[in-house]
Amino acid sequence: MVDYKREAERLFHYTQELRRDFHRHPELGFEEVRTAGIVARELTNLGLEVSTGIGKTGVVATLEGGQPGPVLLVRFDMDALPIQEETEAEYASQTPGVMHACGHDGHTAIGLAVAKMLEAHKSELRGTVKFVFQPAEEGLGGALAMVADGVLENPIPERSLSLHLWNEKPLGWIGVTPGPAMSASDRFTVNIFGKGGHGAAPHISSDPIAAGAQVISALQTIVARNVPPLESAVVTVTSMIGGEAFNVIPDTVELRGTIRTFKPEVRKIVMERFESITKGVAEAMGCRADVDLRSITPAVSNDHEMAERVLRVTESVLPQADISTEERTMGSEDMAFMMDDIPGCYFFIGSADHDRGLDAGHHHPKFDFDEHALTTGAALMASVVADYLK
Ligand SMILES: [Zn+2]
Ligand SMILES: [Zn+2]
Repeated sequence: MVDYKREAERLFHYTQELRRDFHRHPELGFEEVRTAGIVARELTNLGLEVSTGIGKTGVVATLEGGQPGPVLLVRFDMDALPIQEETEAEYASQTPGVMHACGHDGHTAIGLAVAKMLEAHKSELRGTVKFVFQPAEEGLGGALAMVADGVLENPIPERSLSLHLWNEKPLGWIGVTPGPAMSASDRFTVNIFGKGGHGAAPHISSDPIAAGAQVISALQTIVARNVPPLESAVVTVTSMIGGEAFNVIPDTVELRGTIRTFKPEVRKIVMERFESITKGVAEAMGCRADVDLRSITPAVSNDHEMAERVLRVTESVLPQADISTEERTMGSEDMAFMMDDIPGCYFFIGSADHDRGLDAGHHHPKFDFDEHALTTGAALMASVVADYLK
């Protein structure tokens, strides 16, 4: 079998140059025109069949192996975030207010390195690799847009793979979690309607601010009292908007926030309790509540057989790696929309370097990572693909 670790090391400068170029020129979700152009150029240069404009700014390319076999989808995200970069890196963002603060610049570069390596050894592959470079992962619906544009059809992938650089952990750490790995994300908007009036005459009003405060407190009991103690869930109110003047009780208050869960049965409990607590408490306070709950992404749940394969390949390709099978995060990831239809494995590549201060968290203005994680990610991804299509 090809030594993709050595090949990825040889390609380090290619991958690093691409990553730094993407980092200097970050683009927000569905605006990845320059990035997608470079991706399409590199894939076309490799001789792959490339389609652009899939899910607005996404790019898809297929690589046919030397012999027929299954189709494997490998997905990399490309978008940046609306954050003003505060690193002193010489490759820092040149676009004010936009930054690659999640590492998707690295993912895109890894994807191109993987394509380059696998293309060079395509005669040894039995099947097809479908490369998916996805826009707008950061809450804007890029995966769904690509699915709507047919990314999961023609040819239909049998399994899927994706990865994320992971600055919570140092370089050399690899996270492969069988089963649930990233949470489902739902968002809520609650409008509490009361009866406004003079701040000095609360007895003839129905104060939605007081009701909202009680609702926020009561919502904490969902995780504390309704979710089974060995399960995980988060209910966070992130916004409370209501009232303008110091002496006026407003008519309405709006609450917004997020709900995170791993398992559908836990999600169901949280959703039901959320609605009944909110409406019941508001009513008890003489108000009325409208509840709007919307799903953002399902949970990322790794296929057991595919996760076992990634673990086995990691042990053989990266024998020194510190492997975890326990890493779970309440963060969410829209790859879940592709994995709902195409089972697969989403794994994490440790990327922090504490000694060099490259350890700020994802979405932090000082986020940066050890670029050797690009080599680790590319080597592991290419090896798993080759293992699946051998
Ligand atoms: Zn992110
Ligand atoms: Zn991310």
